[in-house]
Amino acid sequence: MLCTARAVRARSVTARSVSVGYVKITVLSGGVGGARFLRGLRHHLREARPDGIGGTTAEITAVVNTGDDMWLGSLRIAPDLDSIMYTLAGANDEVRGWGRLGETERVSAELAAYGVGWPWFTLGDLDLGTHIARSHFLRSGLTLTEATDRITARWDLGVTLLPVTDDEVETQVVTDEGSMHFQEWWTRHRAALPARRFVQQDVTTANPAPGVLEAIARSDIIVVAPSNPVVSIGTILGIPGIRAALAEASAPIVGVSPIIQGAVVRGMADACLTAIGVATSAEAVARHYGSRRAGGLLDAWLVDETDADSVTTLEPVGIAALAVPLWMRDVGSSARLAADALGAAYALGAEGSV
Ligand code: GDP
Ligand code: CA
Repeated sequence: MLCTARAVRARSVTARSVSVGYVKITVLSGGVGGARFLRGLRHHLREARPDGIGGTTAEITAVVNTGDDMWLGSLRIAPDLDSIMYTLAGANDEVRGWGRLGETERVSAELAAYGVGWPWFTLGDLDLGTHIARSHFLRSGLTLTEATDRITARWDLGVTLLPVTDDEVETQVVTDEGSMHFQEWWTRHRAALPARRFVQQDVTTANPAPGVLEAIARSDIIVVAPSNPVVSIGTILGIPGIRAALAEASAPIVGVSPIIQGAVVRGMADACLTAIGVATSAEAVARHYGSRRAGGLLDAWLVDETDADSVTTLEPVGIAALAVPLWMRDVGSSARLAADALGAAYALGAEGSV
């Protein structure tokens, strides 16, 4: 089915005027791209549903990648969970694009003076507070899900953050110079060492975290955020049971391209795509995810208006593509993108309305 932007918008406008029911939205998410999308989605729902999300009319659950997590010394770092938490809390550094606003690095300087530390990984003082709290909870016997629950309780996020798994499934990057943790490849080597493969450690024995399969099964709408298709979304899909749950979900699955005009918007996801033999284009990523009707992931796919050509080429593949503005420059543009994603889901017959 081919959807035009106008058709979907017209439908969502009609739906908005008869706003009824309770809508449950689940978003598969990495860090920064996912965080921006979630902030826009929350904004859109708050405007469209004055009763408030998390209250009586709408519910957003983010299923978050944990493949980037690692132990640094005695601290458990969870970059994607934290990027989302800081962004939704309004505590993020908007200019730098990651980490906490007003951050300092006094503790890191002290560690360096003792000859301890990881110069390639910035550990800000405020950020360290989060890592210490998380590590404390984990050492007290809490799962990552429970620790995340405790940590996020401090903020008014309006989104439930669920780590995709409580098991440690760290992404390793295989290069010609050996295997290393994804974070080391990404931040220390700036993804410049050619990657041969990405391997999720111990993934075959990992389980989805409590609530993840349930969230997918009871969703009205599922969105694949504009996140890194390989190490963010790919890691989520690699956890045993997730793909099957998505295949069986009654909700439409709408993906948002992280690629615009053949380039990543931020970061180095192109290096990850190249490593798995996928071209850096919105269309190639959609084909990589595949149509749900043909055993893949997607029912619909949002590409940027500048990539509108791929709308017709994806139709025969069984993916309803739609060209809309994909740049999330601010909360307003992110909210419009979220509205378009929901519009695409309603055009495919999603339950409820916004
Ligand atoms: P990470 O874990 O911090 O790398 O973040 P994600 O995996 O969630 O997202 C990374 C992806 O977000 C990159 O591939 C970017 O191209 C994409 N991205 C960032 N900003 C935007 C934006 O404004 N629009 C779109 N469509 N994608 C974006
Ligand atoms: Ca990440």
